[in-house]
Amino acid sequence: MAYHSPISTGMKGRCPKCAEGELFKGLLSFNDSCLSCGADFRIEDAGDGPAVFVIFIVGIFIVPLALLFHLKTNAPTWLTFLIWGPIVTLACIGLLRPLRGVMFNLQWVTKAREIRGGDYKS
Ligand SMILES: [Zn+2]
Repeated sequence: MAYHSPISTGMKGRCPKCAEGELFKGLLSFNDSCLSCGADFRIEDAGDGPAVFVIFIVGIFIVPLALLFHLKTNAPTWLTFLIWGPIVTLACIGLLRPLRGVMFNLQWVTKAREIRGGDYKS
């Protein structure tokens, strides 16, 4: 089986196993399984991981631009929110889907899962 980068397939929203089937059936919800190869997507457990990365990226790169705009233009606060509110919102939504795909595909490749009783024996 050919190797598919989990970053690349995740960004495209493709199956981590075959890189053909669609991961998503909606904006953020996953299909139960791959329509191409039958891989089971119900094990998906990215948790808050994608949201944390979105917060970091938007907080580090976009929010400072909004603050800079506000300070440099002396725009009223309502205008800053009117302009930058939608930009920040769209950036968050736009980043969440590919990052969710990447996180799941990394989970798949590394076989990451919750720790269960018996995993560690002393
Ligand atoms: Zn597949």
